[in-house]
Amino acid sequence: MKNDLYIQNSLTRQKELFKPINEGFIGMYVCGPTVYSDVHIGNCRTFVSFDVIYRYLKYIGYQVRYVRNITDVGHLTDEGEDKMSKGAKLAKLEPMEVAQKYTVGFHDMMRIFNTLPPDIEPRATGHIIEQIEMVQQIIDNGLGYERNGSVYFDTIKFAKEQDVYGKLSGRKIDDLFTETRDLKNQSEKNHPSDFAIWMKASEDHILRWNSPWSVGFPGWHLECSAMSTKYLGKQFDIHGGGNDLKFPHHENEVAQNHGACGCHPANYWIHTNMLEMNGRKMAKSDGNTITPAQLFSGDSPHISKAYSPMIVKFFMLQAHYGSTLDITDKGLQDAEKGYHRLMEANALLQKMEASDSDITSELDTEINATIDKAFQQMSDDFNTPMALARLFELVPKINGISAGHLSMDDVNTDTLEKLKSTFHSFIYDIFGLLDDVVGGANGNGVTDGLMELIIDLRQNARVNKDWGTSDKIRDTLQELQIQLKDGKEGTTWSKN
Ligand code: AMP
Ligand code: ZN
Repeated sequence: MKNDLYIQNSLTRQKELFKPINEGFIGMYVCGPTVYSDVHIGNCRTFVSFDVIYRYLKYIGYQVRYVRNITDVGHLTDEGEDKMSKGAKLAKLEPMEVAQKYTVGFHDMMRIFNTLPPDIEPRATGHIIEQIEMVQQIIDNGLGYERNGSVYFDTIKFAKEQDVYGKLSGRKIDDLFTETRDLKNQSEKNHPSDFAIWMKASEDHILRWNSPWSVGFPGWHLECSAMSTKYLGKQFDIHGGGNDLKFPHHENEVAQNHGACGCHPANYWIHTNMLEMNGRKMAKSDGNTITPAQLFSGDSPHISKAYSPMIVKFFMLQAHYGSTLDITDKGLQDAEKGYHRLMEANALLQKMEASDSDITSELDTEINATIDKAFQQMSDDFNTPMALARLFELVPKINGISAGHLSMDDVNTDTLEKLKSTFHSFIYDIFGLLDDVVGGANGNGVTDGLMELIIDLRQNARVNKDWGTSDKIRDTLQELQIQLKDGKEGTTWSKN
């Protein structure tokens, strides 16, 4: 492990030194998408944040089992209708067709953002037996009761027995109990704050399974309790999701785990904050919304141009996962510049050769201290903006060496190697960024190869004093908005 890791635990509301239950191994559960519509850019922010957390935990040496579910049953709308059934009815499709369509779309989007797949991706509909067993355990332990074929969790009894309900979301128990929402079947419950763990299906409800209580379907919160227990055990290390899930979803999950297993499921709760646009919550109702496709194509009144997925991802990394993030055109433009600056500096850096010096200069000391700080800050609750800021402190040094303002003689071999591996690790392994195919030095595969060839041809022309050819190459590239930059370490390119 490189540094002690600290996590802002939303359960205790404190930053805590991370201690895994089993030495070297981490179990992490993150609530996945409800696959009844296209994944939106806010969802992407949450999943990108957990991807960076997953990548960093692995980078610092842990073996991680990352479980992220697919919700394909049970997540009800405010009117009490299953979101999957509603989506299916609207589109005249089988619910499984809806789930398949949007699961594929979600996976495509996760690939576009270059996130790693989770180690296990369980579906709620694939775990109905486990959920029925859990309902039975909750009933057996006296915290669930049946009414007309539906089963409810007894929040009042749970609150009387243990001081747990409301702790995660920070709600006062009295407020929770008076917060009555006019949901379906409210009259069946002992108390309005009780929630369904099994629901009897009405005649027109498409998703339905046999159970000891009725032909019905599981309550939304139950799937995460059942699947996290199955794959990570009754107690595991990290549970994550967006902070809109704290209540009721996670609060009720905690209650269910106590009810079925007699213990709190996760030691650390991590909640990501919401993505906004132009200072306001993204909302379809007032047109304040943008889809990933619109961002990538530029086809939206909210932005002046297209932004590549890596620029959008870089933009996300510039904010801490726990802060709200406001999408603006200006913010994306700045991110574009920052992304290119970082990638160009890295391209220069990786081509640099050490001077064989083994003396430690002031510059060495400064570079090493900044690198150490970048890792310390990343280990301080996965602070991506701080770690990025440290990399940007190092960029002028790299550019200075490349342009000859700073001397490579002042950078010893170990420092140069450490600088190279730090940039490589942060950019590719931890942040999961990719080189944009076109746009930025060191483009991917074919583009990169072609640009290297063109730069070589121009260099040969210059050596042979064939100024006509070298100027033609430069001018044609300029027309394509590709700039060449001649430095001490060679020629690099960038796209405007
Ligand atoms: P859902 O598909 O609605 O269950 O959401 C999937 C994940 O995205 C959950 O962890 C949500 O908390 C998260 N999420 C939803 N809206 C936003 C948003 N605007 N910003 C960030 N995360 C969000
Ligand atoms: Zn969940």
